[in-house]
Amino acid sequence: MIELTINGKVVQVEPGTTVLQAAQKLGVKIPTLCYDERLSSPGACRLCIVEIEGMRGLPASCVTQATQGMIVYTHSEKVMEARKTILELLLANHPLDCLTCEKSGDCKLQDYCYEYGVAQTSFEGEKHVFELDDTNPYIIRDNNKCILCGKCVRACSEIKGASVLDFSQRGFNTKVTPAFDTPLADSDCVYCHNCVAVCPVGALMPKELLGKGRRWEMKKEPVTCTFCEAGCNFFLCKSKRDNRVLGVLAESAGPGRPLCLKGRLGLNFAYNPDCVEKPLLKVDGEFIPVEWAEALGLGPIVEKLKNL
Ligand code: SF4
Ligand code: SF4
Ligand code: SF4
Repeated sequence: MIELTINGKVVQVEPGTTVLQAAQKLGVKIPTLCYDERLSSPGACRLCIVEIEGMRGLPASCVTQATQGMIVYTHSEKVMEARKTILELLLANHPLDCLTCEKSGDCKLQDYCYEYGVAQTSFEGEKHVFELDDTNPYIIRDNNKCILCGKCVRACSEIKGASVLDFSQRGFNTKVTPAFDTPLADSDCVYCHNCVAVCPVGALMPKELLGKGRRWEMKKEPVTCTFCEAGCNFFLCKSKRDNRVLGVLAESAGPGRPLCLKGRLGLNFAYNPDCVEKPLLKVDGEFIPVEWAEALGLGPIVEKLKNL
């Protein structure tokens, strides 16, 4: 085991552990925008920088391996100032639409700006004006809100194995798109929503939740999918007001099988007016609804249940 000190506390970790993982083991929260434990780490957003004694600069903790005797400070003055600057740089080219943004209340950029007291940017300059991709029935892409963390690119390739998304263009014009910058509807996208689940901001939004309320007006209820025998776990997103199911949230797909399209979008059955809600008994050639007690009291069903 390797022993290092983080914020004055000693922690032991396996060789190969990153400083970020070692801090997480101690319960120290380091902000991240591009990191996801299920995906490879590019060290892209730099928000997880830390100060390490004897090391130049502020390395990104998600790509820095812990070494024996390392002394790390995760929230020193220098680190906090640098993180504020990084957030300001992100805001410099971000539409501050929080008042109407569907992601508000569930947005990591918004949360970190609040935590670090960043209300505006001191970096003035040009802003992107990308067209909204609203061409398919399931996902809205708003590249103006994208912070180029690359999580969707990696989720599509490493979780789904589809490799639909990637970075295109260069420098200021860099954006995440399907091949040849086509709309999602014209790509090989299967709408599995794994990219949506990992996006830390409002750049990829599920259409099923649009306009149905703010995130703090919704509650999450853990359920198991009944569509197939895999039994994936996810959250039903319900209105706190009337308990109505509004959508599915599965931000943690877990180490195993990620939730598929049926589990994420097969919600319409719940409120389908044609849905059979009571047992139907065939009387004189016609089906009539009966109570469960009556249906279960019928001989053949009782016998069948007894023999299960
Ligand atoms: S993506 Fe986040 S920070 Fe950007 S407008 Fe929406 S809520 Fe605000
Ligand atoms: S919905 Fe699935 S297939 Fe489509 S871009 Fe996102 S991760 Fe890739
Ligand atoms: S769309 Fe979202 S997940 Fe993809 S790069 Fe942009 S911010 Fe990151």
